[in-house]
Amino acid sequence: MGLQEPFPGLDELLASMGEGGRRVAAIDAGEGAAGNISICVGWPIELRRRFPEAEEIRLPLAAPHLAGHALVVTGSGRRLRDLRAEPAANIGIVRIHDDGTTGTLHTSPRRLFERLTSEWNSHLAVHDDTVARTGTNFHAVVHAQPPHLTYLSHVPEYRDEQTLSRRLLRWEPETILNLPAGIGVLPFMVPGSQPLMEANVASLRTHRIVIWAKHGVMARSDISVTRAVDRIEYAETAARYEYMDLVNGRRAEGLTLDEMRAVVETFGVKTTIV
Ligand SMILES: [Zn+2]
Repeated sequence: MGLQEPFPGLDELLASMGEGGRRVAAIDAGEGAAGNISICVGWPIELRRRFPEAEEIRLPLAAPHLAGHALVVTGSGRRLRDLRAEPAANIGIVRIHDDGTTGTLHTSPRRLFERLTSEWNSHLAVHDDTVARTGTNFHAVVHAQPPHLTYLSHVPEYRDEQTLSRRLLRWEPETILNLPAGIGVLPFMVPGSQPLMEANVASLRTHRIVIWAKHGVMARSDISVTRAVDRIEYAETAARYEYMDLVNGRRAEGLTLDEMRAVVETFGVKTTIV
C-alpha cells in the first residue's frame, strides 16, 4: 500500500495537487472557490524553504494515527484552478504532533487564506481512518462538485446506492473496473459538519468515491491525486450519460447486467454491483 522509494519531494507533490486542481476545473467541478484537495505524506519533506511561517494549531478532531505525518491542504476560499500557478499562496502544510490533536501549520509569506479548507475535518478524518486501516504512507483526498453527479443526487431515486451504481456503471465497460465497489451516497448534510464527517469516513472505507447529496463528491487514492481525480471523472462521465438518457426519454439500452457481468468475469474484478 502507498508509494515506494524514491519518494516524491515537495515540489512534485505540489505539482500533483496543481494538476489535480486543473483537471477538476476542466470538468466544471470547481466553480469559484468550490472543491479542495489534501494529501497525507508519511516520509520526511523539507518545508522551511518554501513554507517558513509556522503557527501551532489544534486539529478539528483527534488523528492519532497521523502523528509525525505532513498533511498538505488547500486554503479556504482559494481556487483549485490557481493551485498550479501559485501553490505556495494557496496551500498550507500541517505537521501533526505526537499527541495526534495538535500540529504546526507551515505557510508561505505569500499565503492568501486565513484558514484551511472548510472541509478540513472530513479530509483529516479520512486520512486518519485510512492510515489506521491500511498503514499507507501516502493518501490523497479530493472534494469536488461535478454538476451531473450532483444533479442526479437531487433526484430522490438516485439516492439509493445500488440503484445509482447500477445505473451509472452501465454506460462504459471500464467504469465498473475503476469503481468496482460502486459509488457511495450520503443524504444531504450541512457542509463541514460533524455528521457529514462521520458518514463520509464510513462510506469511504468501502468506496473509492462518495456522493454528498445536493453538494458534490469526495474521492480518495493511496497512489496519487491523479488517481483520485480519475475516479471523479469516471463517475461524472457516467452521470453525464445518465443525464443525457433522462432528457432523451430513456431511449438508450446501456450495458445490460449480463454484459456487465461478462466484463467483470473477463477482467477478474470483485464487485457487489452486478
Ligand atoms: Zn463543497
